[in-house]
Amino acid sequence: MLNEATIGELKAQMRGELIQRGDAQYDEARQLYNAMIDKRPLLIARCADVADVIAAVRFGREQELLTAVRCGGHNGPGLGSCDDGLVIDLALMNGVRVDPAPRTVRAEGGCTQGAVEHAGHAFGLAVPAGIVSTTGIGGLTLAGGHGYLARRYGLTIDNLLEADVVLADGNVLTASASQNDDLFWALRGGGGNFGVVTSFLFQGHPVSTVYGGPIFWDLKDAATVMKWYREFLPKTPVELDPFLHLGVVPSAAPFPKEIWGKRNVALIACYTGPVENGEEAVRPIRQELPLPILDWMGPMPFPMLQSMFDPLFPKGLQWYWKGDFVRDLPDEAIDLHVQYASKMPSDLSLMHLYPIDGAVHEVGSSETAWNCRDATWSMVIAGIDPDPAKAESLKTWGRSYWEALHPFNLGGAYINFMMEEGEDRIRATYGGNYDRLAKIKKKYDPTNFFRVNQNIRPE
Ligand SMILES: Cc1cc2nc3c(=O)[nH]c(=O)nc-3n(C[C@H](O)[C@H](O)[C@H](O)COP(=O)(O)OP(=O)(O)OC[C@H]3O[C@@H](n4cnc5c(N)ncnc54)[C@H](O)[C@@H]3O)c2cc1C
Repeated sequence: MLNEATIGELKAQMRGELIQRGDAQYDEARQLYNAMIDKRPLLIARCADVADVIAAVRFGREQELLTAVRCGGHNGPGLGSCDDGLVIDLALMNGVRVDPAPRTVRAEGGCTQGAVEHAGHAFGLAVPAGIVSTTGIGGLTLAGGHGYLARRYGLTIDNLLEADVVLADGNVLTASASQNDDLFWALRGGGGNFGVVTSFLFQGHPVSTVYGGPIFWDLKDAATVMKWYREFLPKTPVELDPFLHLGVVPSAAPFPKEIWGKRNVALIACYTGPVENGEEAVRPIRQELPLPILDWMGPMPFPMLQSMFDPLFPKGLQWYWKGDFVRDLPDEAIDLHVQYASKMPSDLSLMHLYPIDGAVHEVGSSETAWNCRDATWSMVIAGIDPDPAKAESLKTWGRSYWEALHPFNLGGAYINFMMEEGEDRIRATYGGNYDRLAKIKKKYDPTNFFRVNQNIRPE
C-alpha cells in the first residue's frame, strides 16, 4: 500500500529526487510545456541514473500506480505526466557522448534535442531531429522525429542504432538490429509503449554550417507560393529541405515593426550541401516567387537554425495540436489553407507542412514501426497563445481547420502532432504495422503498464 513508509523506501533507493504533493518544488516540477494541460501526479521521481529508473518502474508496478515517463515534457496532450500517479522524470539524465570516428552520438534518455545538437556540433556532426531545441529527444525519437535533415538523412529513428530500455518488469535490455530486433523495430515509431529508454545511440552526419532560415511573403501571395512549392519540392535536391509555414509575423523584435501582425506564408529552409553553394540552391525561391516581406536566409551554424524559434515558444503557452499526413496538395486544399490562415486566432498560431520525402522514402513502410513512408508532408495545425482565456478559440479554429482539410489528407497523422484522439486514429496511423506492434507490446509489456502514451494495447 502507498504510504509514507513505502514512499520512504523508494526515496532511499534513489540518487535523484522524489517529489510529492506539498513539497516546495512540486508545482514547478509538475508543470508541462503545454499550459493547456494541468496534471497533478502523486509522485515525481527525478531519476539520476538507470538504477533510479529501475527502482521507479518496480515501485510503480508494485504500488499499481498509473505511471508516466517524461523527457522534455513537450508532448501536446501532456503524455509525459499523469493525474494521481507516478511520473518518471528523466530530465537529470542528460549526458551526451560523441564518438567522432564512427560519427556516433550517445544521448541519455532525458536529453533535450538542443543538448544533442550542442554536443554534436563541437565535432561537426548532427543527428536529424526537430526544429525547436527545447524538445525532448525521448518523445521526439520514439515517435519518429522529423526536421531539417529528414530529406537528406531520414527521420531521427532512421538514424537510431541502439537503445537501452528498462522494461515493465524492471529488467533492462539493449535493442538494436542484432539484439532484441523486434523491440528495436517497435521503438522506431511506436512511441513510449515498450519501456523507458535510458540511452539512445544515434548515427551522426557531417553537418556544421548550413545555408538556411525563413523567407516570408504576405498572405495574399500564399496560393502562389504554395502552388509553386508543391512543384518545386520533388525537383529540388535532398540537400535542400524547405518546410512551409502559414502564420502571423510576431509583434516583437527582431521582426521589423512595419510587418508586425502581418499574416504570411513562409518557406523555412536548410541547405546542407557546401555552404558556398547555398545561395544558388535557394535562388529559385528568391527568383521565381513574388517579392518577400522579409528574407532571413543565409549561412549559419546548424544549432542556430535549430534553435531559431525557441524564443517565440517558451514553456507555458497554450497549445492545441492537430495533424495529418499529406500526399498531395490540390488547389482546393490550398484555397482552404489560405482561408483558415486568414482566420488565425492568435499571432503565434501556425500551420506547417514538413517534407517527409527523400531519404524518408528510402526506408520501407514495414522496416520500422513508422508506417506512413509514402506521404509527402507531415502537416501540423497548432493554435498557440499565452492567454488561457484564448484556449477555446484556439481549439475551435484548430478543429475546424483540420476538419476542412482532413478529406484531402491520408488517414493517420504523426503521433507527436495529435492530441488524445482515440484508438481509431492510432490504428490509422500505424496501418499494417499495428498488429505487429500489438504483439510486441504483449511480449514486452503484457499488462500495459506503459499506457500514458498514444497507446498500443497488448494483443
Ligand atoms: C515547440 C515544439 C516544436 C516541435 N517540433 C517538432 C519537430 O520539428 N519535429 C518533430 O518530430 N516533432 C516536433 N515536436 C513534437 C515533439 O516531438 C513531441 O511533442 C514529443 O512528444 C516531445 O518529446 P518530449 O520528450 O519533450 O515529450 P514528453 O512529454 O516528455 O514525452 C512524450 C511521450 O514520449 C514518451 N517518452 C519520452 N521520453 C521517453 C523515454 N526516454 N523512454 C520512453 N518513453 C519516453 C513519454 O512517455 C510520452 O508518452 C515539437 C513540439 C513542440 C512543443
